[in-house]
Amino acid sequence: LSNLNRQVLYSQSDIGLLKVDAAVRRLRAIDPAIRLEARRENVQPSNVAEVMNAYDVVIDGTDAFETKFLLNDAAVLLGKPLVHGAVLQWGGQVLTVLPGWPCLRCLFRDPPEPEVVQTCEEAGIIGAATGVIGSVQAEEAIKLVLGVGTPLSGRIFQHDGLRGATRITEFRRDPDCPVCSAHATINDLSRYVDQVSARGHVLV
Ligand SMILES: [Zn+2]
Repeated sequence: LSNLNRQVLYSQSDIGLLKVDAAVRRLRAIDPAIRLEARRENVQPSNVAEVMNAYDVVIDGTDAFETKFLLNDAAVLLGKPLVHGAVLQWGGQVLTVLPGWPCLRCLFRDPPEPEVVQTCEEAGIIGAATGVIGSVQAEEAIKLVLGVGTPLSGRIFQHDGLRGATRITEFRRDPDCPVCSAHATINDLSRYVDQVSARGHVLV
């Protein structure tokens, strides 16, 4: 109930249903011809390759830093296009990770320490900010599928609705990036938990 303000696929009448089932029902109502494959499972190091390999483009709509970094790392190691997005309070960010281009860890080496940053539940999210970031992510995905335009690769889109400010900043590959550089220490998804656990940011 607390995040219905930013969930365009759900309404109060869906409370009690599984999110994945309610989402399928809503999307089918919009377009009965749409082909959907619902998966009711958490993305974890043990299944991320199988989940991501089934698709041409992956869009990150998760809400935990650890999962976002896992998706980034898997995208790099699998060579899979990933549209990263994150939202907190009034703002958020989008960047697209493509093979050979900078990744999330080139910009942010590790997830923030839990005590440094508030979670969505603690800080809250303005529903409209989610709309801004989600729409930019959708544009990125459509561009990738159609092979048109210029993706947000090596560039990060950042939106601050409270200040009314939006900016795009270019960034390069980090020659010491722990996942996409020649010195990568995260290089094997089957040993992911061991390779990424230096700061305890591990999904199990
Ligand atoms: Zn990188």
